[in-house]
Amino acid sequence: MIRLLLIGPPGAGKGTQATIISKKYGIPQIATGDMLRQEVKNASDLGIKAKAYMDKGELVPDSLVISMLEKRLKANDAGKGFILDGFPRTVAQADALDVKFKELNIANFAVIELKVNEDSIIQRLSARRVCSSCGKIFNLLTEPPKKEGTCDDCHGSLYQRDDDKEATIRERFKVYNSKTAPLIEYYAKKGMLKTVIADGSIDAINGNINTIIDQAFHG
Ligand code: AMP
Repeated sequence: MIRLLLIGPPGAGKGTQATIISKKYGIPQIATGDMLRQEVKNASDLGIKAKAYMDKGELVPDSLVISMLEKRLKANDAGKGFILDGFPRTVAQADALDVKFKELNIANFAVIELKVNEDSIIQRLSARRVCSSCGKIFNLLTEPPKKEGTCDDCHGSLYQRDDDKEATIRERFKVYNSKTAPLIEYYAKKGMLKTVIADGSIDAINGNINTIIDQAFHG
């Protein structure tokens, strides 16, 4: 059974890769950023609290995200494996996940770091557009939609995330380097970390991830 944690700075391609893997193996992509954006859209209590942090490029407090994730892991579909995309993002979240995995008797999981060059990412992220209807990710520079502003798959309209503006992207990098990067060491120490250089094409990166999945879960 495949259980994967994807860690990487904003714009490393976590969402894109998680979607491909999720389809290939028929396991859910659990993206805390997507879940939080949905809460914001629904104007739920959690969404209202989270929005203030998200708009500034800051992390939503651990307690809120951890309880949201714990609930999600209990859903039936997560019983056949999952990809965590954007969680954990702090050492406190990784510790909470560790406790949760012990409770659920989950011992075998893989952690993949997507490593990228920061400058090229800022350019790439400000060109990112997302379908408001199905969530498909486009990039005006590298993966443009066939018709401007329109999703190739479902014809929904494309939008730019509020936090994909340049100033916010820089803030998100700062937050990544101070809060999330320590997880690289955290999982390396446990001997669980695999690193993929994620500056190449989507297919090349996906090939490298698949090799790691084969070794970790089928080898
Ligand atoms: P993402 O779509 O993963 O880039 O997440 C967008 C925003 O949602 C982040 O900048 C944070 O404000 C928030 N967020 C997503 N996942 C987490 C998490 N695991 N912990 C705290 N905040 C998160």
